[in-house]
Amino acid sequence: MAARVEILRELGLLPLWRLRARRVAPAVGVEANEPPPSRVVAPTERSGVATDDRLQRIAALEWPAFAADVDACTACGLCRTRNRSVPGVGDARAQWLFIGEAPGADEDAKGEPFVGQAGRLLDSMLAALGMRRGDNVYIANVLKCRPPGNRTPEPREVEACRPYLDRQIALIGPRIIVALGKSAATTLLNVEASIASLRGRVHRYRDVPLIVTYHPAYLLRNLPDKAKAWEDLCLARATLRRQQDEGTQALRLQVAGSGPI
Ligand code: SF4
Repeated sequence: MAARVEILRELGLLPLWRLRARRVAPAVGVEANEPPPSRVVAPTERSGVATDDRLQRIAALEWPAFAADVDACTACGLCRTRNRSVPGVGDARAQWLFIGEAPGADEDAKGEPFVGQAGRLLDSMLAALGMRRGDNVYIANVLKCRPPGNRTPEPREVEACRPYLDRQIALIGPRIIVALGKSAATTLLNVEASIASLRGRVHRYRDVPLIVTYHPAYLLRNLPDKAKAWEDLCLARATLRRQQDEGTQALRLQVAGSGPI
């Protein structure tokens, strides 16, 4: 325990991660949408319905049309209560992809994920890794619209919104995914399990390594678990580095094997 405290002190993580106010402009091609704040959208599709046409259209979306498509979405009932949709923000070709559960009140008001207190903590976590949002980092949620009162997303809402997340992941092509909180983790891994049982190992979302850690909003209420979250982020960083080293080694072998022309 003493050794871990010493390591955290060395890393500048004691007594707390420093909260830094930082706003980052949306990435190129992922512009924050700007609908009127109190706009109410009338649903035109039944909640949760995933028509083949809709799935094909979303699967073919490119970045310039992505945010507008999300903003026009009425595939679940959350379109009636949202103020703004929250498609995601960051580097459109980031190696790091952080995925949370759903927008909260601050995100719903601003149209950007993780902008409240939890967002500032996430920024501090990124800073501890020497990173910042928008620079090789993309941040998104499973749901693109806020559930009223921050209630837990319903399965049909997750199902309806899932094609957008799948398309984002395909467009970004991340090298590592960090699932923030149980909801994001169980959705991405398609399992029902506790976050404690999912932490500490490398999962896969399709071919991409995926690490599970706590949601920053949870960490704000449970400060001692910040050390565990730091361990998770270190595992993510080590996994990414190992992957890069393996890629470099494979390239060297390929070059060596090609021999002189
Ligand atoms: Fe559409 Fe997702 Fe918003 Fe539901 S939460 S209306 S599926 S964008």
